[in-house]
Order: sequence, then structure tokens, then C-alpha cells
Amino acid sequence: MFCRQCGQQLVDEAVACPQCGVATGYFPQAVAQGKSRTNFILFGALLGLIGVPGVHNFYAGYSQKGLIQLLVSVLSCWLLWLPMYIWTIVEICTVTVDSDGKPMY
Ligand SMILES: [Zn+2]
Repeated sequence: MFCRQCGQQLVDEAVACPQCGVATGYFPQAVAQGKSRTNFILFGALLGLIGVPGVHNFYAGYSQKGLIQLLVSVLSCWLLWLPMYIWTIVEICTVTVDSDGKPMY
């Protein structure tokens, strides 16, 4: 592609022109945003509250943690649901990146 400011030829992955510094408008996939943090919080808080904790972790790609939270709750006949739900609440307050390391917005 070419710089729309000065016409300098640029590599396709350039985010800015090295000649004049103007942004190309290209946004690399690598820093593209991760999953929705709103969904992460909603899945954790709401589905956790009705007895299905861990869905937020599946959503964010942390399927092992999600599976533990879900299985411990179900297999204990929800006797251990509260600690799992507290774990969930702590996670939705503190976890801000998905399992790919991308920040959730
Ligand atoms: Zn330029």
C-alpha cells in the first residue's frame, strides 16, 4: 500500500508511514481486541447465580477452570456452589485478558 499523505510505498503491515508519520489506518490482527468483558462478567455473574458457574471461563477460553467450577458445583449437588460462585466473582473482577492473552473490552 501507499501512504495517503506523502505517497511513500509501505509494507502491507505498516501501521504508520516511516516518512511522514501519518497513521495508515491498518490495525494488526495481533493486537486486535479480545472477547467482550461485558459478556464475561454477565456469564459469570448471572449464569453462576442460577447454579451454572464456569461458563464465563469457557467463553474466555479457560475451559479447564470453567470445567472445575461447573463440575464441583454439579457433583456436590450445589453444596459447593457458593465457593465456586465466590471464585467466579473474584475472577470477573480481576481477569481482564482471555486465554490468548488478548485484553477483553
Ligand atoms: Zn507518508
